[in-house]
Amino acid sequence: MNYTTVVGLEVHVQLQTATKLFCGCLNKFNPDNPNVQTCPVCLGLPGALPVMNRRAYELAVKTAIALNCNIAEFTKWDRKQYYYPDLPKAYQISQYDLPFSSDGWLEIEIDDETGETKRIGIIRAHLEEDAGKNIHDETGGNRDSRVDLNRCGTPLVEIVSQPDLSSAEEARIYLEDLRRLLKSLEVSDCNMQEGSLRCDANVNIHVHTDDGKTIATPLVEIKNLNSFRNVEMAIEYEAVRQFQEWQETGKTFGEVLKRTFGWNADRGFTFEQRMKEEASDYRYFPDPDLMPVTITSEQVGAIQQTVGESPVDMRKRFQEAYELSRYDASVIIDQGKSFSRYFESVGKKCGNGKSAANWTTQDVLRELNERKIEIELFPVTDETLGILLHKIELDEITVKSAREVFEILLAEADAGKSVTPARVDAIIDEKNLRIVSDTGELEKIINEVLRKNEQIVADFRGGKQGAIGPLIGQVMRQVGAADAKVVREIIVRKID
Ligand code: ZN
Ligand code: MN
Repeated sequence: MNYTTVVGLEVHVQLQTATKLFCGCLNKFNPDNPNVQTCPVCLGLPGALPVMNRRAYELAVKTAIALNCNIAEFTKWDRKQYYYPDLPKAYQISQYDLPFSSDGWLEIEIDDETGETKRIGIIRAHLEEDAGKNIHDETGGNRDSRVDLNRCGTPLVEIVSQPDLSSAEEARIYLEDLRRLLKSLEVSDCNMQEGSLRCDANVNIHVHTDDGKTIATPLVEIKNLNSFRNVEMAIEYEAVRQFQEWQETGKTFGEVLKRTFGWNADRGFTFEQRMKEEASDYRYFPDPDLMPVTITSEQVGAIQQTVGESPVDMRKRFQEAYELSRYDASVIIDQGKSFSRYFESVGKKCGNGKSAANWTTQDVLRELNERKIEIELFPVTDETLGILLHKIELDEITVKSAREVFEILLAEADAGKSVTPARVDAIIDEKNLRIVSDTGELEKIINEVLRKNEQIVADFRGGKQGAIGPLIGQVMRQVGAADAKVVREIIVRKID
């Protein structure tokens, strides 16, 4: 007897708009200053009227197009009613029977090595407003609960997948690929620690019995999984738990109402919270304060133009065009569109994709992290770095010298000087970093060094291999930059 895990994910994504979904309050993560980004609309004060944020709707449509969904020509708003301290209106403005989009799919890559993909169906994506946040102080001095309404009214897209995911690992991969797509679309920062991307998992298992039957177990929704690791671990745990529960009780799908579970991340188990509400418990009805929204196919087409290349397509293209490993290409793409554009420009200019990838993902990325800036503000532009790395390809400078130039460029930028591509050649000359390729010149210097070091030469002839080191060192100091291997070859030849 064995079983298959069956998972559907509901993902809530905060949209990156300047203001909230139905009012002009700032949409910004601001936990240090609670209840400052509020107004009569998002506080639900009597008489205040909501107005839809057009930008939020456009970003939502962009998201749905990238998920291959149908965009509804006509969509409306509904009130979902429940009582909770973080919801001052006692209803959430959401979408019930006419969501703005439905019937899409996301192709995920379930095997890194073979590149095997699987298409995961999207039932629907709808727009809604976020609630505020309850903060429970269980261990601190206050031992109280507080409510922060800064988040109240933040635009969310809720993306509901089909139960097409057949393992905890597949669920994790789906979430990773979805996040990568959303980031590349620049519709959300997808910061999971800050709650910009939150995930609930609907889980049950299909038990395959020895006599060839398949039996589904009751459905459980695990709430608020806030990291990839937690998604995978919670589903894995829950599948085992359901198998045990089925062996003990024999209860099957339909015999028990859907239940809501939590996940204890510290101790690694799921636990029952409450019976799941039915849709009727929410008493949905159309919001009389908001106009329905219509969109023309021309408007959808215009938004479609902004979608651009998907991260999967871009990764495959980088692997091909720049001869990168899957891993290197992914590291670049995960840094976002601007960073990918920067890499691509450097790669084109320097003519060596691998070198461009190493420099951008190591040297450049390290500087960005240290400086806490985005690539747009990085003082060494793609053009400058491309020109610098091209000189390595031309054997004009060594990798070590290129690193020295890179450091000098950064230091000059920090000192307020303007760093133009022309500075690359100037620094190479100032620091005497150009590789001496004129072997006539090099041989003259070597002859001189050998003449002055008769004893060392004699030691080397006598079999002391290590004696050559100081000779190479003296030559290198005089020429500024040369290929140490070439210098060694010439010295050995001359001594022989
Ligand atoms: Zn407001
Ligand atoms: Mn929701």
